[in-house]
Amino acid sequence: MLEELKQQVCQANLDLVAEGLVTLTWGNVSGLSDDRELMVIKPSGVPYNGMSPAQMVVVSIETGAIVEGAWKPSSDTVTHRLLYQKFSGVGGITHTHSPKATAFAQAQREIPCFGTTHADHFYGTVPVTRLLTAAEIQEAYELNTGRVIVERFAELDPLAMPAVLVASHAPFAWGKDAADSVHNAVALESVAAMAIDTLALAPQTGPVDQFLLDKHYLRKHGKDAYYGQR
Ligand SMILES: [Zn+2]
Repeated sequence: MLEELKQQVCQANLDLVAEGLVTLTWGNVSGLSDDRELMVIKPSGVPYNGMSPAQMVVVSIETGAIVEGAWKPSSDTVTHRLLYQKFSGVGGITHTHSPKATAFAQAQREIPCFGTTHADHFYGTVPVTRLLTAAEIQEAYELNTGRVIVERFAELDPLAMPAVLVASHAPFAWGKDAADSVHNAVALESVAAMAIDTLALAPQTGPVDQFLLDKHYLRKHGKDAYYGQR
């Protein structure tokens, strides 16, 4: 079942490695079926070298049950599942511990929009979640990780801000499908690296003006987008 989606999700996981965003096995990509009832995700702890579509795991969005697959799904499956339930329009999710974005997550610092590279991909400051409480970590760690992300997005549009930094943990990025979520994870890491360098050169740097942010984000996204080929 979902052979094409398994192929896409496997390739997206391999692309994550090719893009240099994965150390050891710290990373996972999932994709959602068109009817939003099933997700396909990387198996837990399986080496990327030789990973195949047949190893991908199919999980029910409604129940969390494994529908197909011989392997245990990624330990972050519960987080991915909650995000698919709460963020309509999101069809792919990438979690990495990419170093620069993770540095911001560990510092519990948001990434302000310092320039147009950021504005092309993220419509404003990349948010950071609150810390999980001891009880939240002990009771249902992965589910509560999803909950603090959803909580942080109470007044944010996940389609205009396709990434978050989980405090003391690492980033999650998402998009319309698995490949798009990897694209946004790559953009996030690059933007985070530039932000660190910007702050090193000029610690007093503030975010760009709203009109520059609007210009760059809105020419690429939304109903009035005009950048690139039609
Ligand atoms: Zn993680």
